Amino acid sequence: MENELAELKVAGLYRTLKTIEKTDGRFVWINGQRLINFCSNNYLGLANHPKVIETAKSACEEFGAGAGASRLVSGNLILHEKLEAKLAAFKGREAALVFPTGFMANLGIISSLTDENDTIIIDRLNHASIIDACRLSKAKLQVYPHKDMVALEKILKRSGKFKKRLIVTDSVFSLDGDLAPLPQIVELAKKYDSLTMIDEAHATGVLGVRGLGLEEHYGLPGKVDIIMGTLSKALGSLGGFVAGSQTLIDYIKNKARSFIYTTALPPSACAAAIASLEIIEDEPEHLRRLRENIKTLTPACRQAGARRSTIPPLPEGEGKTPIMPIIIGPAEKTLEISEKLFERGIFLSAIRPPTVPKGASRLRLTINSLHTKEDLKCLASSLQALIPA
Ligand SMILES: *Cc1c(COP(=O)(O)O)cnc(C)c1O
Repeated sequence: MENELAELKVAGLYRTLKTIEKTDGRFVWINGQRLINFCSNNYLGLANHPKVIETAKSACEEFGAGAGASRLVSGNLILHEKLEAKLAAFKGREAALVFPTGFMANLGIISSLTDENDTIIIDRLNHASIIDACRLSKAKLQVYPHKDMVALEKILKRSGKFKKRLIVTDSVFSLDGDLAPLPQIVELAKKYDSLTMIDEAHATGVLGVRGLGLEEHYGLPGKVDIIMGTLSKALGSLGGFVAGSQTLIDYIKNKARSFIYTTALPPSACAAAIASLEIIEDEPEHLRRLRENIKTLTPACRQAGARRSTIPPLPEGEGKTPIMPIIIGPAEKTLEISEKLFERGIFLSAIRPPTVPKGASRLRLTINSLHTKEDLKCLASSLQALIPA
């Protein structure tokens, strides 16, 4: 272990935790220093919304700090069912089911729906939880290059022998901020009689006019078979979910081990997510502010990325998602820029291999609705200063 850790240190790949002493969504305090947080997934600031906090507090008082058991034993609270009804309505589906985290949702959904007679076909840049879910399943895993629809069709063409073909993709790719080509995926799935599943972790609350997700963004409501998402990003809470037909949800409820053998989501997290869904409906200003901030900062990020790298700095999702990667290249250099930003009061952590490919280390900048024009200016000028041509 010591040798391996020493190797990681030499390669600039050693990971440490930063201790946040306090936060309000816009700022974090580390070692007594106040920094603007540019690397959180709290896109709409809802983790810090007064109504969300108040609702979580009352649920804690009414139901306790924990649910006390798994859902199928004595942990199934009225809050879980209310949350699931809201999620189903939000995603335009018959039913929904919540898990303790998004990671566990992916493990449970994918591993319960597929077996050795099936194949799972995924984008190469899908989230780690999808990849681990595929490893847990006995189905044959097939991977296509990022968003390569010609390659996807080739795989589908030769996969007729499998009983089920399940295509899984992130809606918004978590480290690049670009979007899955849903219209083509849906068309290919239909042509080759395959099931589709999207991971809406970074799309829920963010994409589409009302923040409903990727289907709304492309004007394809109801076209995807299985919608997975998380309560932990734009919804500002914790927990994962799946939405789809009643049969799908009944099946997963009966089969998914990461649903059956784990304690139910705590009441406070349920209540917070319910409040967040209501706020997304009633207060569109949060999404509007997020979009204004994305628009304001896009040119500065594009320029910083272009100065550093031959890899296109911002992919085609540009301007639509709050994730703006600035690809620096070498791990050590990325870490160094991140540390210098820290000295200037900006918290923006370095993302290095194996999270991203070797030589593609990056600053994964995320914007939220709480950032002010001043914050954005401060970041833009720091990027200008620290990332020269
Ligand atoms: C964050 C994330 C998850 C995991 O969700 P958690 O609720 O944080 O466990 C799954 N998929 C994608 C694409 C993610 O970005």
